[in-house]
Amino acid sequence: MARILILGAGFAGLWAAIGAARKREEIGAKAAEIDILVVDRNPYHNIRVRNYEVDLSDVAIPLAGLLDPVGVKHAIGDVQAIDPARQQVVVTTNGGRETLAYDRLVLALGSELARPAIPGLAAHGFDVDTYAAALKLETHLVALGRREVQGRATVVVVGAGFTGIEVATEMPARLEKAGLRDEARVVLVDPNPVVGATFGDHGRPVINEALSSLGVETRLGVGVDRIEADGIKLSSGEFIAAGTVVWCAGMRPSPLAALLSGERDRAGRLVVDAFMRARGLVNVFAAGDVACRKLDATHETVMSCQFARPMGRYAGHNVVADLLGEPMLPLDINWYVTVLDLGAWGALYTEGWDRQVRTTGKEAKATKQTINRLRIYPPRSGKRADLLAAAAPAVQAPPPTRS
Ligand SMILES: Cc1cc2nc3c(=O)[nH]c(=O)nc-3n(C[C@H](O)[C@H](O)[C@H](O)COP(=O)(O)OP(=O)(O)OC[C@H]3O[C@@H](n4cnc5c(N)ncnc54)[C@H](O)[C@@H]3O)c2cc1C
Repeated sequence: MARILILGAGFAGLWAAIGAARKREEIGAKAAEIDILVVDRNPYHNIRVRNYEVDLSDVAIPLAGLLDPVGVKHAIGDVQAIDPARQQVVVTTNGGRETLAYDRLVLALGSELARPAIPGLAAHGFDVDTYAAALKLETHLVALGRREVQGRATVVVVGAGFTGIEVATEMPARLEKAGLRDEARVVLVDPNPVVGATFGDHGRPVINEALSSLGVETRLGVGVDRIEADGIKLSSGEFIAAGTVVWCAGMRPSPLAALLSGERDRAGRLVVDAFMRARGLVNVFAAGDVACRKLDATHETVMSCQFARPMGRYAGHNVVADLLGEPMLPLDINWYVTVLDLGAWGALYTEGWDRQVRTTGKEAKATKQTINRLRIYPPRSGKRADLLAAAAPAVQAPPPTRS
């Protein structure tokens, strides 16, 4: 029996697994002939892009309901090491340390928040990088109402990029939920001189309008000296008394990618070809945030679920095809959009690499909600046919402007 081992069950890994099961069924191979095993440190698929939201009740979907119906095995384990020469992966589980052999590997371990060595960040900083971190922040916010300290309802968000803006603009609603509406204060901090530096001249005025309408303050062109239990000291010398500091400054690919000898881009992602095969490695495919695929002469995939999901579906299809000597399918994505949540103000939908504004406010919010609540969810009927159909190697059309 041959084994396909998939590391990670996020947007790339989940769809690689179901995509592989789909191709296995299409060619008529039996589950007993090709074993598909997914390893993730969590027993759920995290809809990670929603970890900033007020309501976290539906962002962790048990893997069993998604993988059991399609005959994909799954194990909870922390990947420690990958040895492409021996075709082995070392995993720590509850029961200890295990070595898993593979015939083909799909690396889909995603990305993680970059945490620089700023004094107090590890002890006092919150984030929304994972479901566990998002729950910890939620518990903390709920408890703030019981604290009688200065600045208890002040939240400082560090990093005015995509995630930081979504966290900051959602925060007034989160503080209201915590019973702190009247005292709520949100401050967005960034070393850049502008908010949303990568959004360009078209989108930035929209973001600024949303921030000012929601009363979100900014501190731009400043760094962070230290974080304390009751506030944050900025490089400008200002100390902001704050019950909560949320760190949103930068993402990096899984550090396990850096341990492999394959070709990597400047960010440390594994460079993959059109079939999702990692360049410079044998029998290794990669997809999602840990992988980088050139899309045209000037653009590459960016760390986003828009790319991670199709990369996963194609990796799953191709890994089975490759194993059985069948032709593989090249992935070709010819569109790029961003839909940025701006809390109660609405959202911003941009199109193209130059981020032309397509819709804003309530109209863009309807698109964002369709994406976050429907489009990126796997079918939850528990039906094998529904799951396999959703994993077909195809690229969806851009999200519609109305739900
Ligand atoms: C708050 C937030 C908002 C975002 N908003 C957007 C958005 O609006 N639009 C957008 O396109 N993108 C957004 N992103 C980025 C998006 O979430 C990622 O691009 C996407 O999750 C990448 O999918 P992935 O499968 O590569 O990685 P992930 O979804 O991170 O999945 C990786 C999986 O690997 C597992 N894993 C990692 N390391 C190990 C290990 N050592 N051992 C075992 N398991 C491991 C993790 O548990 C996880 O399940 C957002 C991210 C965040 C945090």
